Amino acid sequence: MVDRWEPERNPSPSRGAGPSQAPGTGVAFGEPRDRAPSAGETAAGAEGPAYARATSLEQALAALDPAEARDPVVTLAGGTDLMTLIHQGLARPRRLLDIGRLGDLRGMERGAEGQWRIGALVTLAELARPGALPGPYRALAEAAAASATPALRNRATLGGNLEQQVRCWYFRSGLPCRFAGDAHCSCAAPEAAGPFQALFGHGPGEPGEGCGAVHPSDPAVALVALDAWVELARWEAGGIARRRVPAGAYFTGRAEPGRPGLTAREPGELVVAVYLPPLDGPCASTYRKVTDRRAWQFALVSLAAWIRWDREEVAAPGPSAAPGRTGAPAAGHRGAAGGGTAPVVREARLVLGGVALKPWRLERVEAWLAGRQLDAATAWEAGTLAVEGARPLPGSGFKVELVRSLVADTLVDLATVASAATGA
Ligand SMILES: Cc1cc2nc3c(=O)[nH]c(=O)nc-3n(C[C@H](O)[C@H](O)[C@H](O)COP(=O)(O)OP(=O)(O)OC[C@H]3O[C@@H](n4cnc5c(N)ncnc54)[C@H](O)[C@@H]3O)c2cc1C
Ligand code: SF4
Repeated sequence: MVDRWEPERNPSPSRGAGPSQAPGTGVAFGEPRDRAPSAGETAAGAEGPAYARATSLEQALAALDPAEARDPVVTLAGGTDLMTLIHQGLARPRRLLDIGRLGDLRGMERGAEGQWRIGALVTLAELARPGALPGPYRALAEAAAASATPALRNRATLGGNLEQQVRCWYFRSGLPCRFAGDAHCSCAAPEAAGPFQALFGHGPGEPGEGCGAVHPSDPAVALVALDAWVELARWEAGGIARRRVPAGAYFTGRAEPGRPGLTAREPGELVVAVYLPPLDGPCASTYRKVTDRRAWQFALVSLAAWIRWDREEVAAPGPSAAPGRTGAPAAGHRGAAGGGTAPVVREARLVLGGVALKPWRLERVEAWLAGRQLDAATAWEAGTLAVEGARPLPGSGFKVELVRSLVADTLVDLATVASAATGA
């Protein structure tokens, strides 16, 4: 089931729509509020979408079907992003479909083949709960725990987090933005420099060309590092059709004028679940986030790292194996003076957050790491390699050094984990 539609045989949702129902869905919407603003009232206060709550997946998908819907229907999960956009007049849906009670989108469970299924309505608080996911998936739990605030995490869902809108303050303030369909963009002004600007992916010919914003999600970064899949469903020929998209392809990083969507999700599709592949054997993952205050802040820079290693006989370490900045013992210094065993990287996935319009995978660094002994010297070289090709914008130059240090520090710490696990 790879990125293509797979129909299921489902009973059709109940028919017989009344005048305020989306035809054929059985979802009863009210009428949208459409009146002129009274004195002192904003347009967003005077207008308001019609609301309905879906009671089954079939019903929700049929209501979202663009071929059926009288007005486009927008999905409401925890509402922590969407309701803000509506109140600010940045989103003006005519119909809001509340999916918050759909049992099919809930729960976290391990499948028979070792993969994990996480429903789209699982909250960030549930994901962050200690022990909710086994150790190799730690990066996702840490990313969820590093997101927003405790109150928001109790409400915010994983599906909504992956589909949240950019946090570019020009876009959020309603200033001209190509995303929002304007011909030019406030971010192009020289004084538009800001700490949430990109380092990668915005140059000529790149998908994010012309947009200096970054993808705001922490969990998205971890999902790409863990090689997860996003499952989407839609209504097709009277039944549910599903497809799965690798997380690495799900986040497109495309600054398409007038289409403020950062993912491969098409109109009418619902995120149903996220799948994590089985991760056995000697491997570990982690998520690190750098912010300018300790809570309630988006990443200036973040890194999700996953490595798989083998234990190998190695020669005595050379003089370049300097201690890590975190104070962790230098991995290259462990073992007997004449050499010993050490973890050697078999496979790695390193993904940066806060630097591009999508989670930014460091594929060159990953390839370079494969087959190398994981020690402090390797970690610092990897950090230097990670910033090659960076194109700082006026506000993001400081991120180059942050990325270099974050990659190096994180690998040093993973080297310590791997050394302890291999008994090296
Ligand atoms: C103050 C503040 C700080 C924050 N800090 C962080 C942070 O540090 N890190 C971070 O990652 N996030 C952060 N966030 C974002 C927050 O995590 C998201 O707002 C939240 O995860 C969105 O989930 P929700 O369920 O509330 O989505 P909603 O607001 O209900 O929906 C968001 C979008 O997703 C769509 N959607 C929702 N569910 C689905 C689905 N199943 N299928 C298809 N589309 C769907 C909606 O139509 C809407 O477009 C912050 C938010 C706030 C307000
Ligand atoms: S195009 Fe990108 S950087 Fe420019 S205002 Fe819009 S979201 Fe912000």
